Amino acid sequence: MKITWLGHAAFLIEGRDRVLIDPFLTGNPKASTTPEKVECDIICVTHGHGDHLGDAVPIARRTGAVCAAIVEMSTYLERCEVNAVGFNLGGTIRIRDTNITMVPAFHSSSIGAPGLEFSAAMAVGLVIESGKTVYHAGDTCVFGDMKLVGDMYKPDVALLPIGGFYTMDPRQAAMAVKLLRPKIVVPMHYGTWPPIEQDPKEFAKLVKKASDAEVVILQPGQSLEV
Ligand code: ZN
Repeated sequence: MKITWLGHAAFLIEGRDRVLIDPFLTGNPKASTTPEKVECDIICVTHGHGDHLGDAVPIARRTGAVCAAIVEMSTYLERCEVNAVGFNLGGTIRIRDTNITMVPAFHSSSIGAPGLEFSAAMAVGLVIESGKTVYHAGDTCVFGDMKLVGDMYKPDVALLPIGGFYTMDPRQAAMAVKLLRPKIVVPMHYGTWPPIEQDPKEFAKLVKKASDAEVVILQPGQSLEV
């Protein structure tokens, strides 16, 4: 499996299928690609905030990729005339040869429309099994039930926000690693704008004290093979 960080919380996971997560590219100062260039089979969206929903609609329209999101968000996506599957916490769906399980996150969710910002249910995390198992935490604080995600799904790779301010900071994310026990951790959701500046090397130091997981620090556009 190849995992490419596209900047912020956006990743392209190429396992049995090509899964794009939280494709915020337009307006993302750290984006490594553009919505016109990304190719994928499946698009997963953790919540409605613009830096996560991002370019999901135009990419889905162009590529024909199936979107996977919580029910309220999938209803919105269907109204945008893209192919979407709506599911909910605890559910596992299979799209092509990939299993996607929706797990909790502690964060808000809304969708911005012209002149309006409306609530979009809740933010979630996702476990994606497509040859290897990847946990994308979405935006969240640390919470004790991350241990259940670790116990049940045994992620090979955890993609964790470390930016603080809107999500976990390095200290909380290091605790998350202890609970999740992945083999590899990739920090994300930092460095995009001043409020979420962080040094990923400091995060790596904290993880080293707390667990055996390997921290892989990517630059936007860089990939990891697992
Ligand atoms: Zn958010």
